[in-house]
Amino acid sequence: MSASIDRAYWKPEAETLARPALEALQLDRLRRTVARVAESVPLYRKKFEQAKVTPDDIRSLADLRRLPFTTGADLRASYPTGMLAVPLDETLRLHTSSGTTGKPKALFFSRQDVDNAAELIARSFVATGMTRQDIFQNMMTYGLFTGALVAHYGAEKIGCLVIPAGPGNSDRQLLLMQDFHTTSIHLTPSFALYFADILEKRGIDPRKDLALKRAFVGAEPYTEETRRKIEHGLGLRVFNSYGLSEMNGPGVAFECQEQAGMHLWEDHYILEIIDPESGEPLPAGERGELVLTTLVREAMPILRYRTRDITSVVDQPCACGRTHRRIARITGRADDMLIVRGVNIYPQQIERILMGLPKLGRNYLIVLEGLDEMTVKVELSEAGFDGQLDHVVALKNEIAGLLRAEILTKPRVELVPPGTLPISEGKAKRVIDNRKL
Ligand code: ADP
Ligand code: ZN
Repeated sequence: MSASIDRAYWKPEAETLARPALEALQLDRLRRTVARVAESVPLYRKKFEQAKVTPDDIRSLADLRRLPFTTGADLRASYPTGMLAVPLDETLRLHTSSGTTGKPKALFFSRQDVDNAAELIARSFVATGMTRQDIFQNMMTYGLFTGALVAHYGAEKIGCLVIPAGPGNSDRQLLLMQDFHTTSIHLTPSFALYFADILEKRGIDPRKDLALKRAFVGAEPYTEETRRKIEHGLGLRVFNSYGLSEMNGPGVAFECQEQAGMHLWEDHYILEIIDPESGEPLPAGERGELVLTTLVREAMPILRYRTRDITSVVDQPCACGRTHRRIARITGRADDMLIVRGVNIYPQQIERILMGLPKLGRNYLIVLEGLDEMTVKVELSEAGFDGQLDHVVALKNEIAGLLRAEILTKPRVELVPPGTLPISEGKAKRVIDNRKL
């Protein structure tokens, strides 16, 4: 293999498989998975009995609907080893979900699972234009969290130089970027915004002073406005990266160079979009809860997993030639929804407004107190404060008005100096709910 090949695809056959062949492959893999869990996982034996379904009933992909859902509660109830489909000595690695909501879930990987997870990352990174010449600085948290390790193995598979920087310590990050000419980074949107602030403070112009080309950004929801802010602040292209520990972590769905929705790797997962209330499937294009079934996982296959993540399917073919369907940007989790004075609000609605205003900085916090009092605290940008108080008052009123139009309730708005709101190394905590309801 020549060192200079800039391959458009990592595994062209798999990535551009014609839909009928892809669906035949899915059915075959689904049937094997269902047979295996019926054999080896007591939870599924019980669920199949209750649903009066046997592996032989799965004759087409449409029969998927006959299978029971799996929920986060099922995984927690099976903690630590209840959902293993192989003997413990065939497992190679343990990860847990980062526990943003509730107690962690234990996820096991076999040798093949570790390799498959890395394959999907390699595929995803290459889809953004990455090659083995790229220098990859991994700014996600290493450890039990899947985010960093799975990406690390994928980048090594491509043959990139990998810098396992981990999160935080911005000055060291910057030094590494300067000394080793980092081209590609992997981090959360909140850290990316924070890091853009640091560059601005240090007087670094990323376009002149750094070699950055692209950032893989995920692990928490963010808006198009935030993407643009990161791209502008870091002088690179941002590719949306979606995954969850229950499905191996990152590499489940990823944006290609078109940056228009994330290809969900359908030879490894079956995707469904359902109405989160009724559980019924929704037609293509409608927004609902993403449900995923693993197709090749050995150690811990999971059927029809309720991710709680809200998205829709983009059903048009993609200009990049990949046949795997795309999902739209995740707009939040079903559990993220806040009810304030009887109105349903997603934090992303607020973020969209705030990140669209140039006078505002890159960090914000939503605080709920008392009997449904909402305060939105947001940092001004370095250039946003000119010392004139009447300008601040006018800006506050403008923000309150925009938010009212979007979320139908008028929050208190507090403008604070840049760099004064708490930052997190891992996943950002954007909502503090201290209400006594
Ligand atoms: P936890 O569920 O404890 O946070 P994970 O680390 O497995 O554990 O996080 C996976 C979750 O992170 C997803 O279910 C989703 O809610 C969120 N997430 C991951 N990537 C993205 C993304 N690109 N956009 C929006 N949300 C994302
Ligand atoms: Zn594409």
